[in-house]
Amino acid sequence: MITQQIKSAIRDIPDFPKPGIIFKDITPILKDPVLCENIVNAFVEQLKGKRIDVIAGIESRGFLFGLTLATKLGVPFVPIRKAGKLPFTIKQKAYKLEYGTAIIECHIDAFEPGQHVLIHDDLLATGGTVTAASELIKEMGCEIAGFCFVVELGFLEGRQRIAPISDTLVVLAE
Ligand code: IMP
Repeated sequence: MITQQIKSAIRDIPDFPKPGIIFKDITPILKDPVLCENIVNAFVEQLKGKRIDVIAGIESRGFLFGLTLATKLGVPFVPIRKAGKLPFTIKQKAYKLEYGTAIIECHIDAFEPGQHVLIHDDLLATGGTVTAASELIKEMGCEIAGFCFVVELGFLEGRQRIAPISDTLVVLAE
């Protein structure tokens, strides 16, 4: 049922941000507080029994449900940001995009070694961003507890790419 609610709320925007791309706009979900609460509850339910010490959310839409989920689980939230946004000493990871490279960063004191970190983003596409986030987090001495996403673009096969990193994957809609 939640899958259907999410799918109905998401809006397809053709040719954004460039021609040929159909962008999944999740902002209508945010206007529905009951659906937002159901999304967080579904994550909690499907992650039951997993050791999760920290939630890492990917900029920027991964912050929306990431912080709420962390608060609900009673664990810290860490923002993983694009280059140049974090004010304190940072650790960074470069990764390849279709054209060029991107950099993600976290604060040097964001994690404690040995923590089990669940990575959250709004959407799983190719899996490139969360793979880079996983490498960054592992270089901080942590374990990857798993991944959770509101929606997945299945045809891009991101799930196959991240499968070797963790077998815990929660996706609420495709
Ligand atoms: P990936 O690295 O290819 O998996 O891309 C995932 C990242 O791009 C996430 O941070 C998403 O928020 C963003 N993204 C890619 N496509 C879309 C889309 O259609 N809608 C919303 N976000 C998207």
